Amino acid sequence: MPSRADLHTHSTMSDGVLSPTDLVELAYRRGVRILALTDHDVTDGLPEAFAAAARHPDMTLIPGIEMSTDVPGNEVHILGHFIDWQDEDFQRELVHLRESRLDRARKMVEKLRELSKPVPWQRVQEIAGDGAVGRPHIARALVEAGHVGSVNEAFDLYLSRNGPAYVERERLTPRQVVEMLLQVGGLSTLAHPRDLEHLENLLAELKDAGLTGMEVFYQDYPPEDVERLRLLAEKFGLLPLGGSDYHGFGGHQQREPGDIPLPDAPVERLLALARERGALQRARLAAHG
Ligand SMILES: [Zn+2]
Ligand SMILES: [Zn+2]
Repeated sequence: MPSRADLHTHSTMSDGVLSPTDLVELAYRRGVRILALTDHDVTDGLPEAFAAAARHPDMTLIPGIEMSTDVPGNEVHILGHFIDWQDEDFQRELVHLRESRLDRARKMVEKLRELSKPVPWQRVQEIAGDGAVGRPHIARALVEAGHVGSVNEAFDLYLSRNGPAYVERERLTPRQVVEMLLQVGGLSTLAHPRDLEHLENLLAELKDAGLTGMEVFYQDYPPEDVERLRLLAEKFGLLPLGGSDYHGFGGHQQREPGDIPLPDAPVERLLALARERGALQRARLAAHG
């Protein structure tokens, strides 16, 4: 049973396969009426997504982003919804983060060359397209060059956190990201938290910083995980949200837009919170030119 809402999706502006327009159209066809575009560390897909969503008066597009943060040993991602994405300071910070990401990708390609697994940098950039270049693009270049059989193998052998071609990158702490999102009116949600270490400590800290929600309904999370996370969200006073994290890659974990059992009530609560902040109005204005 598809959900009317999907609060976590990616387009070609980061590492997704579909353009913002195609993503909006696919989601609409699948019954999604409340869609958040949450590309990694970039908002450049939003104008196109708003233009596409404007063709469907019964669709609400939420301006969003997914930000990477740095906690030792943990990949903590935080979604921002209803962000005032045109804020100049915010965009400057995003540019800085992307430049450091580009620098990191170049270093990983250099390490692969030293490991006698060369991939052409130009090809990595081509694969990334307009998106923020990252490990998935390098992984695909490794497959193309015949060094590995699959993207998963590329990560397992070279690009995972402890892999020989891995390079750390400059990132923000989760608390800094929540605060940064709050400054642009964003409501923040901890993404795919199931396997995070010390989750309760993190939730306590982020709640204190102003976290609004946590992804409880996500991809292939089975009912027992959903229930555990739902109780945790309740304990910390967080909205139990979620999304498909649609990229368009296929694969067993992946879900189509809206293909998650996200209930209406917490989504309505999120919209109400945004409305209170006037952010929903801004989103609508942007949608209608
Ligand atoms: Zn993520
Ligand atoms: Zn994501």
